[in-house]
Amino acid sequence: MKLIERGTALSLALLLALSAAGCQKGGADPTSPASPAGSAAPTETPAPEPTADPEEAVRTYWSQDQLTQAWGPDQVVEHLFFHPVIAYPEFAFGSPTISEDQKKGLDDYMVTVDEFNKILDELYKRDYILVNMCDIWSETTNSEGQPRMVRNTLMLPEGKKPLVLSFDDVNYYEYMLAEGFTSKLVLGDDGDIWAECTDPNTGETFLTQDLDATTILDKFVREHPDFSLNGAKGCFSLTGYEGILGYRTQNDIDIAADDPKRAAFDANRQSEIEAVKPVIARLKETGWTFGSHTWGHIRLSTASMERVQRDTLRWQEEVGSLVGPTNILFYPHGARPDGDHDQGEDYGPEFQWLQSQGFRIFASVGINSYSQIKKGISAVICDRLHPDGTTLRWRGQDYTQFYDVRKIMDTVDRPDYGTNWAEKASILDQIQEPAAK
Ligand SMILES: [Zn+2]
Repeated sequence: MKLIERGTALSLALLLALSAAGCQKGGADPTSPASPAGSAAPTETPAPEPTADPEEAVRTYWSQDQLTQAWGPDQVVEHLFFHPVIAYPEFAFGSPTISEDQKKGLDDYMVTVDEFNKILDELYKRDYILVNMCDIWSETTNSEGQPRMVRNTLMLPEGKKPLVLSFDDVNYYEYMLAEGFTSKLVLGDDGDIWAECTDPNTGETFLTQDLDATTILDKFVREHPDFSLNGAKGCFSLTGYEGILGYRTQNDIDIAADDPKRAAFDANRQSEIEAVKPVIARLKETGWTFGSHTWGHIRLSTASMERVQRDTLRWQEEVGSLVGPTNILFYPHGARPDGDHDQGEDYGPEFQWLQSQGFRIFASVGINSYSQIKKGISAVICDRLHPDGTTLRWRGQDYTQFYDVRKIMDTVDRPDYGTNWAEKASILDQIQEPAAK
């Protein structure tokens, strides 16, 4: 989709949204090159034998006849979400260049690489299996001829429990780059996704698969293919105001068309757009899906209708045009439009307008993997749990099906902000140690 004139944006966006009947599936993208490793250039040397794509083994690990366990509409599908993981916790929590307020924010909302690794390990040992968020619900027509969402029955391998992972703000915001996070996702020469990272201590920039949530999960699933159903990984929840995935693809509408700066801005933006396309294609091919986190990370509980509309159209123009249509909206700050009214059937105009734009799955944040299908409108609302400093310290009692927070939290690098572990010991002590795998 090309950039479009403001005046036509509304009708075109509506059209796009209506045609977006379902999620973008993680399957092969017809627009992606057959060989994503940049091997299109002609060469004199004979082509090497094509090596098997390791992700193919992930996609095909489970055969249909092994999927004998029906996971019905009334059974919970657990949903955890993460922010970008802290690549250098010693730096993030120790450096004098990072303010106490920033450190508190990092502690509240993030987990470290080490904690993320331990959490994946615990989830795997407890027989969770990653499923595609887009497979959980479908839109069908009810007996009155109206479209409504329904929960699907998932077919799983025996003994497995379904799990959705989502990843918020995978935009690589400028402020994070100074805090020792990875800086973008790139397509490596091997055709795999890698993360670019600059060591905040040495200034050295390098590619890694060990310091970024996306590449860590990819690698973990390659090593444990039984952890994923049909190659499912996670769903990215993307804003647009600083581009996506580390590429500055956003428009700056404050630069007028006749401003001399416009040409240089557009040229740079276009090169960022071209650079991110193969990354998106490979992510889609390897089980990742995309949802909106609004363009401007706006607080939907207080934003005016006009702002919600402007923001949504801008997301569609600048992000949806790259990642494809989606029917998932992840509420920034977990803040629901119309306050909490949309928990019942009493939802307001913002919720209805967002639904009219094609969104069907509205995800907030909560203390369990709650979900509810609306009866009067084609939509489902759901909550996600949030492994981070706040829950590692204070809500371990709500995460006992996943892990024992006392074994996860990095008490060495994190600041000494306290925990309730002693108070909740009687609950935490009952957590069953999973069998080793
Ligand atoms: Zn966010």
